[in-house]
This record gives sequence, structure tokens and C-alpha cells, in this order.
Amino acid sequence: MNQLPLLDQVDITNKTVLVRLDLNLPFQDQQVSDDTRIRRSLKTLTYLIDHQCKVIILSHRGRPKGAPNTSLSLEPIAHVLKNYIDCPISFAADCIGTLASSAIQAAPHGSIILLENLRFHPEEEKNDLTFAKRLASLGDIYVNDAFSCSHRAHASVVALAQLLPAVAGFGMQEELTALNGVLSTPERPLMAIVGGSKVSTKLDLLNNLITKVDYLVLGGGMANTFLLAQGQGIGASLAEPDLAEIALALLEQAKNQNCTIILPTDFQSPPDSFKIMDIGAQTAQRVKTALDQCKTLVWNGPVGVFEIPPYDQGSIAIARHVAQLTNNRKLISVAGGGDTLACLKKAGAEEQFTYTSTAGGAFLEWLEGKKLPGITVLSKDQE
Ligand code: ADP
Ligand code: MG
Repeated sequence: MNQLPLLDQVDITNKTVLVRLDLNLPFQDQQVSDDTRIRRSLKTLTYLIDHQCKVIILSHRGRPKGAPNTSLSLEPIAHVLKNYIDCPISFAADCIGTLASSAIQAAPHGSIILLENLRFHPEEEKNDLTFAKRLASLGDIYVNDAFSCSHRAHASVVALAQLLPAVAGFGMQEELTALNGVLSTPERPLMAIVGGSKVSTKLDLLNNLITKVDYLVLGGGMANTFLLAQGQGIGASLAEPDLAEIALALLEQAKNQNCTIILPTDFQSPPDSFKIMDIGAQTAQRVKTALDQCKTLVWNGPVGVFEIPPYDQGSIAIARHVAQLTNNRKLISVAGGGDTLACLKKAGAEEQFTYTSTAGGAFLEWLEGKKLPGITVLSKDQE
């Protein structure tokens, strides 16, 4: 990774600081159902408040498609934030213009001003320079603490970072350290587990991983295409026969890269017809034994239809084993993906992983080896 300028390397005392966060929080029955993203932004927010900054929070929420939409307002999030941080918090009903600037002017130092949903303006998703200039005019310094948004070349992520002194926040720093520890400078042997439903959505991921990891476990519906390509009967299981050739080529390439592929050899299926829903106990045991030899693990995608018990058993068995190895300091474990984290929660294993990424698309693009525009723009030696 190129060197990133960090928040604690700039003088921010008494400044007005624009902080890009991801406050696109999941809600259930009018309540925040997962507060991980808020908790991970607290270090940055507290630091800025302690330095008597005016802290302007920029975020999006949902997909309003460039028009105001009350159901996607960030105002309720301002109330939620009050439960986490002890400072005055105000809300501005627009992210640019006089509504924003007068709210910021009125706010005392050592307070937070949350601006309305950036995506109410179509310019945000177009990385529009004029819009970014209007945002930039509101503050002195820009902090990106939203790794999960950094795969998007949007105005608040890229154009804005080019207009002000721009640094990475502590949450971003923590996430990058965890992720680089897994793929850039891992302790070996390194294993990746990739599950999920379809190969077609994971081709870039697999192609990158076989060049990096020592063991690659293929599970979930995705593995079926590989089994089919090898001539195994998979009954009514989900598979993509069109990708059989590509799957075989991938296995061949893995061999050339000294990457050992672990494919399922036994399965859980509904009793009435053969349809692979989960890996079997023997396969789970093989994965656990291989894990015992490894020092680092990165995991994306459950290895079974974990939403429907008992097809969660394979993923749960692996998750608990990883949790135990991590607890015993034998393994560094990083997992990401919405379903993967839900599955780890179900296994009661999430807390014990070294790091869990809530970054979704950004996590995947990073695993695919892609450069994230929001990170590139921050780095000192940009190409
Ligand atoms: P994440 O959200 O963590 O990135 P994915 O969305 O790639 O993970 O994969 C999760 C999905 O894969 C789940 O909906 C799960 O039901 C599905 N899946 C896992 N195993 C199978 C299988 N054998 N057949 C069909 N779908 C599967
Ligand atoms: Mg998913």
C-alpha cells in the first residue's frame, strides 16, 4: 500500500473538519439493527471533538437516486449518534448551500454537524467537481473514515479529497491494517475460504486469490460448478454449466501457483432429491485440519445455505473452529460480506475473529486486488 496521510499527522486543533463516514446504517422496526459502523467511527469523532473541531459529517443513506426523499433522511441518525458521543449534535437539512453553511456557523467548536444525505444531489454519484467545491467551501480539512464507500468514485470520496488537505481517519486506518495484514504481508500459510451462491460473481476474486493464498477452500453453491466441471454428478444443485471451462482453467492455474484447492467431498442435501445445500461433516473436518496448519485466514461467503438449518452446520463448524484458533492466538482471521457476517453471528463466532469487515462491495473489490479510488486519491505518491 502507498503511504496514507493519517489524521494524527495533521494539525486539526480548532479547525472545521469534513468527515466522510458511512452512516448508511441498517434499520429494523425504526431501530438501528447493527451499530458496528458507528462504533468504528467513534475514535475519529472523539479525537476531533477533543481537539475542539467543528466536525461536519458527510454521509449517504440508501439510494435516493439524486432527489430528496424523507424516508432516506439522515436526521434520525443524528438522534442515534447522541447515544454514542457526548457533545452537541446538530443537523442541517441540506449538505450544501445556506442551510449547511448557517448550521455550521451557528455550531460551537467541539460539536458535530450532520449534513443531509449527499445522494439527494445527483452530482454526488457523478463525482461532480462543482458540487465537490461547494462541499469543500464548508471546511478546512477532509477526513475519509468510510472504507466501505471508497470503491465509489463519488464527489464526497474522490473530487472533494483533491480540493482540501485530505487524510485517512482511524477507522479507515484500522480496516486497511487488518486487510493488508491478510493479503499484502500475511503470515503463512494463508488460507482463503470462498463460498456463496454463484461463481460468476466471484471470478475476479478467485483469480486474484489463487495468486496469493496457499490454500483455497471452495464451498457453497459456487463449488458445484467446479465439481460439475470435474465430471461429478451434482443432481439438482445450483450450478453454472457455462462456466465449467473457466472453472477447470482456474484449477489448472491454481496448481501452477502452488495454491492447494480444497473442494467438498461430502454434502448435505434435502432427502427427496440430490441438491447440494451444505458441505458434509467430513469436508468440514478437512477444512478444520487444514486450518490447524495455517496462520492467516480470509473468508468470504458461507459454505452452505446457512439461512435454512440444518444447512448452516458446515459454516458454523468452521466458524467456531476459526474462533477457537483465533482465541488461542494460532490464527489471524478476517471475514467480510453481509451474509458471511450474519453467518458468523449465528455461530456466535463474530466477536472472536481478528477483524470483520462491514465494507461489503469495497471489501470484495479490495480482495479482488482492485485499487479503490477513495484510497488512491489519499495516497501521497499517487500515480
Ligand atoms: P456475502 O454476502 O458474505 O458476500 P454471498 O452473498 O456471496 O456472501 O453468499 C451467500 C449466499 O450463498 C447465501 O444466500 C447462501 O444461501 C448462498 N449459498 C451458500 N451455499 C449454497 C448452496 N450450496 N446452494 C445455493 N446457495 C448457496
Ligand atoms: Mg450476500
